[in-house]
Amino acid sequence: MSNKPSTFLPSAAQPCWLGVMGGGQLGRMFAHAAQMMGYKVAVLEPARDCPAGHAADHLLCAAYTDAAALDQLAAQCVAVTTEFENVPAQSLATLAERIVVAPAAECVSIAQDRIAEKRFFTQCAAQSGVLPAPYREILSAADVDGIPDELFPGILKTVRMGYDGKGQVRVRTRAQVRDAFANLQGVPCVLEQMLPLAYEISVLAARGADGQAVVYPIAENVHRDGILFTTTVPGPNVTPACAARAQEAALSIIGQMGYVGVLCIEFFVLQDGSLVVNEMAPRPHNSGHYTIDACVTSQFAQQVRAMAGLPLGDTRQHSPAVMLNILGDIWFDGDGEEPVEPCWDKVLALPGANLHLYGKDDPRRGRKMGHVTFVAPTLEEAQQRFRDACVLLGMAAERFRPA
Ligand code: ATP
Ligand code: MG
Repeated sequence: MSNKPSTFLPSAAQPCWLGVMGGGQLGRMFAHAAQMMGYKVAVLEPARDCPAGHAADHLLCAAYTDAAALDQLAAQCVAVTTEFENVPAQSLATLAERIVVAPAAECVSIAQDRIAEKRFFTQCAAQSGVLPAPYREILSAADVDGIPDELFPGILKTVRMGYDGKGQVRVRTRAQVRDAFANLQGVPCVLEQMLPLAYEISVLAARGADGQAVVYPIAENVHRDGILFTTTVPGPNVTPACAARAQEAALSIIGQMGYVGVLCIEFFVLQDGSLVVNEMAPRPHNSGHYTIDACVTSQFAQQVRAMAGLPLGDTRQHSPAVMLNILGDIWFDGDGEEPVEPCWDKVLALPGANLHLYGKDDPRRGRKMGHVTFVAPTLEEAQQRFRDACVLLGMAAERFRPA
C-alpha cells in the first residue's frame, strides 16, 4: 500500500461502490452500514439466496475464484473487503492489483492458518506482551510422539477451516491424539495445552492505511456448544488492568501486522489473571455486534471508513450492552417438526431490545439466524432484559451467565 492512502467519498453524482467477498450476515450488516453512508455495495458470493445478497445493490453470483467475476468486481468497485476469513487469499491478491483491498491477502492468510497465526503472535509478543497457549505442530503421525507431556490434557485443532468449535477434539492421552488425528484425515493440526480459563474476551481494533489505529472496549464472551452465546460489555469479570493490557496488545498486534480494516482478537484470561492470545478474525466479528447499538461507530461503519481511507470513527460505548445470539434451535423448541417463529413482539416489548435478523429463511439447529442486543442505562438492567428474553425464548439463561 502506498504512503498516501486513497480516499473514496460517497457521491450523489457518481455512485461509489464498495465490494464484499462473501454473502453471510457480516456482509449484510456491512452493506447496511455502507449504504447508510451513501455507498453502493457489490457482493461476490456463489449462493444466490444469501443474507448479504438480499441487502446488496448488486450480487455477483459466482465462485470466489471466478476470474470474470473478480474482474467485474474490480471494474465496479473502488475498494473490496471480506466478510469471512476463508476467502481464497489469491483472489484478494488478484483484486489488489487493481483496487484497494482491506484487509490485505497477506494478513488474511495469517488468520487462515493457526500455525502462521501462532507464529505471528509469538513474534509480536516482545512488543505485545502476550503469548499464545503452549502448543505443538502435528503435521504427521510421527509428531505425536514428540508432544511434551505437559501439553496434556490438550485440544487438537485443525490448522485450517476451524470455526465455532468445529475441527477440535479434546484429548487426554497420546493415544487419543493419534485417534483424533486419524479421524481428522491427518490434516495439519496443532495440539494446544488445555488452559484453566477464568473467562474469555475479545478485542476489536481497526487501523487505517495511514497507520492510525483505534480500539473498542473489551467484550466478555460466553460460548455454548462451541458457539458464541452472549457478549457482555463492559465484561462483568474484566478488571481495568486486564482491559488495558488486552487493548494495548491488540493495538500492538494490528500495528505490527500493518493491517488495514477491522480486526478481532480473542484472548483467554486465565485463573491466575494472565492473558493468552487465542486467535484473530480478519473482519468484523460476532462479538462486535454490540457496537451497532451501543457504540458511536459500529464495527461495520468502521470497516467502511478504514477501507475508504476515511478518518476512523469514535469507538466510545454509550450504553452497557448484552448481545444474545439467536440460533435456529429456538424455532424447534416445541414438539413439532415444523419451525415456529419465536415471539419477537414480546422480545421487542423489553426496554432496550434491538432485534437483528439476517434474512435466512430456513432455521436449522446451530445456525446463526440473528442476534438481539439489550442496551440500558446500567449493565444490571441490560443483563436483566437479557434474562427476561431468555425466558421468553425458552433458553436457559442462568447456566450461561458469565462466571
Ligand atoms: P471461533 O468460532 O471463535 O472461530 P474456533 O472453532 O476457531 O472458534 P477456538 O476459538 O480456538 O476455536 O476455540 C473455541 C473455544 O474452545 C474457545 O472459545 C474456548 O472456550 C475453548 N478453548 C480453545 N482453546 C482452548 C485452550 N487452549 N484451553 C482451554 N479452552 C480452550
Ligand atoms: Mg474462537
